Amino acid sequence: NFPADVVPQAPEDPLFGLMRAFRADESPDKMDLGIGAYRDDNGKPWVLPVVKKADEILRNNPDLNHEYAPIAGIQAFTSKSAELMFGADSPALKEGRATSIQTISGTGAVHLGALFLAKFYKGNRTVYVSNPTWANHHQIFNNVGLPTAQYPYFDKKTKGLDFEGMTQALREAPDRSVVLLHPCAHNPTGVDPTLDQWKELAAIIRQKNHFPFFDSAYQGFASGNLVRDAAAVRYFVEQGFELLLAQSFAKNFGLYGERAGCFHAITSPGPGAAETIARIASQLAILQRSEISNPPLYGARIASTVLNDPKLFAEWEENLATMSGRIISMRKALRSKLEELGTPGTWNHITDQIGMFSFTGLTEEQVLRLRNEAHVYMTKNGRISMAGLNTKNIDYFAKAVHKVVT
Ligand code: PLP
Repeated sequence: NFPADVVPQAPEDPLFGLMRAFRADESPDKMDLGIGAYRDDNGKPWVLPVVKKADEILRNNPDLNHEYAPIAGIQAFTSKSAELMFGADSPALKEGRATSIQTISGTGAVHLGALFLAKFYKGNRTVYVSNPTWANHHQIFNNVGLPTAQYPYFDKKTKGLDFEGMTQALREAPDRSVVLLHPCAHNPTGVDPTLDQWKELAAIIRQKNHFPFFDSAYQGFASGNLVRDAAAVRYFVEQGFELLLAQSFAKNFGLYGERAGCFHAITSPGPGAAETIARIASQLAILQRSEISNPPLYGARIASTVLNDPKLFAEWEENLATMSGRIISMRKALRSKLEELGTPGTWNHITDQIGMFSFTGLTEEQVLRLRNEAHVYMTKNGRISMAGLNTKNIDYFAKAVHKVVT
């Protein structure tokens, strides 16, 4: 039934292939700048102190068991997740125009949204994603029969936002297209629109009747401030948009493998809004049931413990500031080291960009030389995970970059 012309060999996921090559490299100098996971100054994974505390609290709770979660997940988790994203005083939450469902981290949330659109969306079913975007976006939408198209995003010359290209493409896209947006700390470029640019984008999306779908994987990681990182989303909600939002807690809680996430749908204000959202929620529950039945407990319990306790929440904000602060200091250090070395080109984009990643502008050839000659692993598009840099390896990295650029 499955000969090679029917089931051809698929290529390995590039990022996980890169990780495999890194593990096989025996050089003591090897550096992993591929994976988008936070590392401390010793290059080690960091269990957030607040997560350790929440874990302790959960382990000491004799009432917890391993029964199934409800289909929509742990309510104390999903309701606080919505408040975190939209604000506790969000008009959409107050007016009962939002529904939230726990998912398998951010990927599961994007997938559930894609599935919902595939089944029910009657506008232009092409999903517009940024060029470039998180590579998984294409296959998540394509797998459920929704084609993707790209809007320009990254300006290779300035290594910043191609706002002209982006707005022009959104204006030229057929009316009622789905537009996928990264609310902050864009992956892979680290380039975000300003709030004024978000306002212009909202105006175009409104004028064209496009449908916004936000994918939030880095709230708190961009600026270190949870509220500031949600500003674009909150603006769209204030403007009364109907929208979808995928929310991941992988990065901001360091709960990568625990798969804690949430999917939210919001309808526009007006008569019938609450009834519309109830119908949407009922369909999401059916989709969820056939996909995963009920979401996993542990990560959501950890996040929920923190989100529901003001003291722990404050401690989480400190932990976030530690992570984003270390990344910002690495950005400054890398830029100044390259400038001191006189490495050809400009390096201001390293500090202008934001969040976990930097789009260095290194070419594929330079990336491969870095891997072969210096044991530095990064994706072929020149993206580095800033969290892979630390005070011990940054000199080595800057010199290696200098060598391949010169
Ligand atoms: N969306 C974007 C833009 C991402 O960068 C990521 C992770 O890298 C995700 C979604 C989903 O991550 P997870 O499924 O681990 O929450």
